[in-house]
Amino acid sequence: MSENKPTILPRNQHCISRKQIDTDSLKVLYRLHRHGYKAYLVGGSVRDLLLGRQPKDFDIGTDATPNQVRKLFRNCFLVGRRFRLAHIRFAGNKLIEVATFRRQPEEEELPDDPEDHFHFVQNVFGSPGEDAARRDFTINALFYNIADFSVIDYLGGIKDLHEKRLRVIGNPQIRFVEDPVRMLRAIEFSARLDFTIEADIYTAIEKHKELLETAAPARVREEIMELFRHKIAGPVLKLCRELGMLPHLLAGYPGTDESIALLATIDQRTATGIPIEESFAIAALYLRLFMDSCPPLPKTTITEALHLANEIIVPHCRYFSISSGIRHQARELLIGCFRFARGRGFRAEKRFLQHPLTPKSLELFTLWSQVRPDLTPLVKNWSTAIKTSPAESISSRRRRKNYSHKTCA
Ligand code: ATP
Ligand code: MG
Repeated sequence: MSENKPTILPRNQHCISRKQIDTDSLKVLYRLHRHGYKAYLVGGSVRDLLLGRQPKDFDIGTDATPNQVRKLFRNCFLVGRRFRLAHIRFAGNKLIEVATFRRQPEEEELPDDPEDHFHFVQNVFGSPGEDAARRDFTINALFYNIADFSVIDYLGGIKDLHEKRLRVIGNPQIRFVEDPVRMLRAIEFSARLDFTIEADIYTAIEKHKELLETAAPARVREEIMELFRHKIAGPVLKLCRELGMLPHLLAGYPGTDESIALLATIDQRTATGIPIEESFAIAALYLRLFMDSCPPLPKTTITEALHLANEIIVPHCRYFSISSGIRHQARELLIGCFRFARGRGFRAEKRFLQHPLTPKSLELFTLWSQVRPDLTPLVKNWSTAIKTSPAESISSRRRRKNYSHKTCA
């Protein structure tokens, strides 16, 4: 691959100061540099520092091979398929990831089985310029060089940062076919950073959105959880719906207006500092659909509600290989909301009030009542009931160790 000359911003032309960089990452950068290797901060951290944001992690890129990295650090171990990533461990279980610069392999180098392509592509070593070119967006392909504290820009990422514009490296039509998860990442980053999306990205999504179904479910699952963690699940899934991506991303999720509005309230909850759990996110995704298919009439029994909840969330959990523990919790949260919506005075109410998941269910139901204000009186009534419910005795807690709503139907 021919190498373009990068634009180099010397220290006095950018705002990144070493004070903003995690001290352990700095140690790793310096040690690599002292031993004659290139040592760059790469990816999201450079982007975030240039935008004045706090980076989530400080990944490092180098021309040292994983084995060379391992020899330099006592606390280093190699991970990943083919052991191509170095993890350096610091106090408090902290990990710094050091990756050798990689490149996009040529077509004829790819393994026969397309299933192996993603991992193979991740593992072919290259130059810094090639490493930048294999990344997804120009703003994610910036490097910070510890040798002279400069920022290295091979692909015009600095200009795009200034212009608040998300641009795919290369032709989106090709890059999205290569890895369909990039379509979701495009919308995710534009929402996170409030950047505009280039027109050619929309065109490519329109053309290739079906390919999201071929992406590894584990990767899609991770990106979906990223949306919740970054408090942008509402706007991103709304845009995904408008672009026709939803059926290919989350097959069972209809993304109605009310459901999207609920996700926006979940985002606000996360913004207050409450960590988002996957079971809560799944229950939130499917609450509206569940409530619709399961009207809280006195005639609908808990057993029927359980059956409907399973019908809705089991396909999601199966597709994304979500553990039975998380699935169980998501289902209990839905059933809790069903009980709240049905009103008071049904069988086993006392045990329900004392169920460990009931307060969390009420949190979800309370957020739901922001979308459906007619439910607000029920929220008040149940909140009082939970507060005034006598604490459970230890012996009764033991008796129902494996309690679930099934057992108090
Ligand atoms: P954050 O960690 O804040 O969510 P990030 O930019 O660090 O954002 P990661 O998912 O951690 O995102 O990925 C690290 C870097 O790896 C990205 O900045 C990008 O350069 C590259 N990258 C990640 N996913 C892809 C992909 N699907 N295709 C190409 N490059 C990718
Ligand atoms: Mg990152």
